Amino acid sequence: MSDHKIQSLRAHRINIPAKAVHSHGSGDVTGIHVAILEITTDTGITGWGEASPWPVFTGTAEAASAALHIHLRPHLIGQDPVQVEKHMNMAEKVLIGHPEAKAALEMALLDITGKITGLSVCELVGGKMRNDMGMSFSIANPDFNADLDDVAAMWDDGVRIFKFKTGFADHKFDVMRVEKLRKIYGDEVDIRIDYNQGLWAYDAVRCIRDLEAFRPTFVEQPVKLHEREALAHITHVIDTPIMADESVFDPKGALYGAQHRIADIFSLKIMKSGGIRRALEVAAIARAAGIEIYGGCMFETGLAHAAGTHLMAAVPDLVLEAEFYMATYYAAEDILTEPFPVKHGRIHVPTGPGLGVEVDPEMLAKYAVCAPLM
Ligand SMILES: [Mg+2]
Repeated sequence: MSDHKIQSLRAHRINIPAKAVHSHGSGDVTGIHVAILEITTDTGITGWGEASPWPVFTGTAEAASAALHIHLRPHLIGQDPVQVEKHMNMAEKVLIGHPEAKAALEMALLDITGKITGLSVCELVGGKMRNDMGMSFSIANPDFNADLDDVAAMWDDGVRIFKFKTGFADHKFDVMRVEKLRKIYGDEVDIRIDYNQGLWAYDAVRCIRDLEAFRPTFVEQPVKLHEREALAHITHVIDTPIMADESVFDPKGALYGAQHRIADIFSLKIMKSGGIRRALEVAAIARAAGIEIYGGCMFETGLAHAAGTHLMAAVPDLVLEAEFYMATYYAAEDILTEPFPVKHGRIHVPTGPGLGVEVDPEMLAKYAVCAPLM
């Protein structure tokens, strides 16, 4: 028990434009539309959380903010914020789905708990295994020449990991782009492929084999999320490691994925699992099954990136790095008071109590799409 009580919850909804359109096998994205949760205690501590949905993947920002305000808020006012599992257990009981709203709630509770104890979030969930990790940038602009310019600038910044979003145009376009990047940067570039469910199961193997010639590190989610048998087949016959993203959300999905060996790698995302601690459960199942993990993200601000970075700082092994690039290279602006810490192609784990980052209220007001729910 702590001496602190939750006094108020506010759900802000904001929309930050992107620097460029990003195309994916499952649709185009032009900005970062998220719900930001602000929890305050009767002792004057503020904790921040973010729900970063994608309508074609997890849900909507409108639903996340309503879930927080209408369905979760009444169970939280007057409660002790450090009893994180108690509140997350409540959230799972009163609300089906909505993993992004649950992730936002856990994030804000852990931020407050960290500020009370002086510990950072990665220390609260097990400890800091690393201070930094490599950053992957996603190549997803339908104008490939614009992408090549961005890659050249990022290459000078020290970025070496690039993930192609494929399957949104024709197969020849995908082959041309991957071949070109390998030709320009040689063996020094780490190329990954993400179809976002964009292939038809019947000819997925043939398409992936064409791209294997350019030695990608992995191929992510080639087929639809429910086509798990097809995904397992692809994993079995293709030499390049296959990653499940949309097909594995939470510990139950990870258990099925491990038992049926649907992939060689799982993408961990707090917005899929409903928080950092559930994502660590996914990581534990993967580890027991000999499945590698990867630090994925949605269309997020630096706030959710910070939470994701604490998650990936706490996992025992991390060989495939992470992709928290949105705040630095995708959003027109961020909502944090200090820039999200990316330097020379590496993401640095924020230091300081809680999430180690602070939200600028002026930026929330600037990008607000409606008055906060409070
Ligand atoms: Mg993905």
